[in-house]
Amino acid sequence: MKRNSSKKGKVIVVGAGAAGLSTAVQLAHQGWDVTIFEKEHTAGGRLSAIEASGYTIDIGPTILMMNDVFHQFFREIDRNLEDYVDLVRLNPCYRLNFADGTSIAPSTDLKEHLDEIRRISPEDVDGYLKYLAQINPRYLAARHKFIEKNFNSLGDFLNVDTLVGMWQLKTLNSMYADISRYIKDERLRIALTFQAIYLGISPYDAPSIYTIIAYVEHGLTGIWYPKGGMNAISKALVRVFEEQGGQLHLNQEVTQIVIEKGEAKGVKLANGEIHYADVVVSNMDFPMTMEKLIVEPYRGKYSAQKIQSMTNSCGALMLYLGTNRRYEQMDVHNIYFTKSYKETLDQIFKEKVFPDDPALYVYSPTKIDPTVAPEGKEVIYVLCPVPNLDSSINWQESVPIYREKILDKLERSGLTDLRKHIDFERIYTPETFNARFNTYQGSGFGLAPTLFQSGYFRPHIKSKDVSNLYFVGASVHPGGGVPVVLVCGQLATRQIMADKQGSSVEQTYSVATTAKA
Ligand SMILES: Cc1cc2nc3c(=O)[nH]c(=O)nc-3n(C[C@H](O)[C@H](O)[C@H](O)COP(=O)(O)OP(=O)(O)OC[C@H]3O[C@@H](n4cnc5c(N)ncnc54)[C@H](O)[C@@H]3O)c2cc1C
Repeated sequence: MKRNSSKKGKVIVVGAGAAGLSTAVQLAHQGWDVTIFEKEHTAGGRLSAIEASGYTIDIGPTILMMNDVFHQFFREIDRNLEDYVDLVRLNPCYRLNFADGTSIAPSTDLKEHLDEIRRISPEDVDGYLKYLAQINPRYLAARHKFIEKNFNSLGDFLNVDTLVGMWQLKTLNSMYADISRYIKDERLRIALTFQAIYLGISPYDAPSIYTIIAYVEHGLTGIWYPKGGMNAISKALVRVFEEQGGQLHLNQEVTQIVIEKGEAKGVKLANGEIHYADVVVSNMDFPMTMEKLIVEPYRGKYSAQKIQSMTNSCGALMLYLGTNRRYEQMDVHNIYFTKSYKETLDQIFKEKVFPDDPALYVYSPTKIDPTVAPEGKEVIYVLCPVPNLDSSINWQESVPIYREKILDKLERSGLTDLRKHIDFERIYTPETFNARFNTYQGSGFGLAPTLFQSGYFRPHIKSKDVSNLYFVGASVHPGGGVPVVLVCGQLATRQIMADKQGSSVEQTYSVATTAKA
């Protein structure tokens, strides 16, 4: 986006999560006077880290994909990503460990990847190639016609371009059903669908378009690791924001968006202060923004009833561990599946109970980055998908029991004597995500991206009911995941510039979609 130095104004951003920072950086670059109020003592939200006892442990995101979005983001603000973040490409992408003892390490090298598939199930090589042959057009349609496009009105959605895009997405069945058309082996089906959990939904419910994620990981941009952990991204965004004169106020909770006669005028802080601005952007989780910051007449269709009826993604039970020994056999990203994929997913998403056999994702960045732990020690970040707060789990009482189940499974899976070597520990439940970051129902990943909570049907960036008010973040269009919320901030910036400066809005934010950027 070209820098526009015409008329500028003051913008207040509520929250310094990835989406809030993205918007703030882009607007500051355009010459706006931007202030962020963040309730926590650090910026980044879910994209921040626990920094204690010599450990730096990412809280949420750990997998960086679509690296071209990050490069493009920095190019847009006349900078190079490399000057702010040191990215390392991972190969293999991760290690998938199955209950029967097999493990698969998907590679970004096609020959190695096909060899790995052949080793597991020779008859599925052809099916995998057929999956690959049809996925790129679907990826490009998703990217250009949905993710990088703003949907303010039904007209933006119901037009020839979008309808053709929807046809290209072919998204009426589920991820699992779609992959099953190509792949017979259950382990490979799991390897190509478990990515639905990144979005906090079950692969049996996720629209089939999300089978593009495995393609992005193995076939397109790969998976990258920022030195220092994923939190290095939010630190870089804060640095750029401050270089551009932006003001970040930490430990400042916004309690209300001040609205007068249908116009957002500013925000009220927990300490009672009122700050005025020409534009307010809320990065607080959308349903929480509606419930807590906006008074009833201005919520439009998002009444309390509507908010409660929306489907939220699952929660995450997190064990952030530091150990006084290294587990050399670990890869950076490791997943431990369960005896029954379907049963575990149904327990989380349908029965809303803690699964009998928990599926675990373990991130161990120390393998390639000694800076995140004291010498000879290791970061072991454990993510266990669990129901969000819309369940009857009593987290206070249950955490000690679930912790034992998780540690038992990890010790059985090769992290010998893990309990004895824990040197640092912190546990987050959906209650922690709710209390710290204000995520609705403590969900980890925002509103679930079901078909009817996607595209035009997802909350819009621009408020329909209040002028000068915008929403960004995982629960808003285009959805969750760090690269996607960065794009959300870019779409919001374009919209604000069009509305306030009269610059012609390009509803599409387009980035070069080159393989292996
Ligand atoms: C466990 C976990 C693992 C994940 N793994 C990945 C991954 O590997 N890769 C990936 O791309 N994505 C991943 N995600 C998703 C990713 O974290 C999110 O999509 C993204 O970080 C959301 O950013 P956001 O700006 O929308 O929200 P947030 O990060 O929640 O930011 C909102 C900010 O607003 C602040 N705030 C809230 N209310 C107020 C208020 N009233 N006043 C002031 N400030 C307020 C919060 O403190 C927070 O800083 C993961 C998420 C979780 C939970």
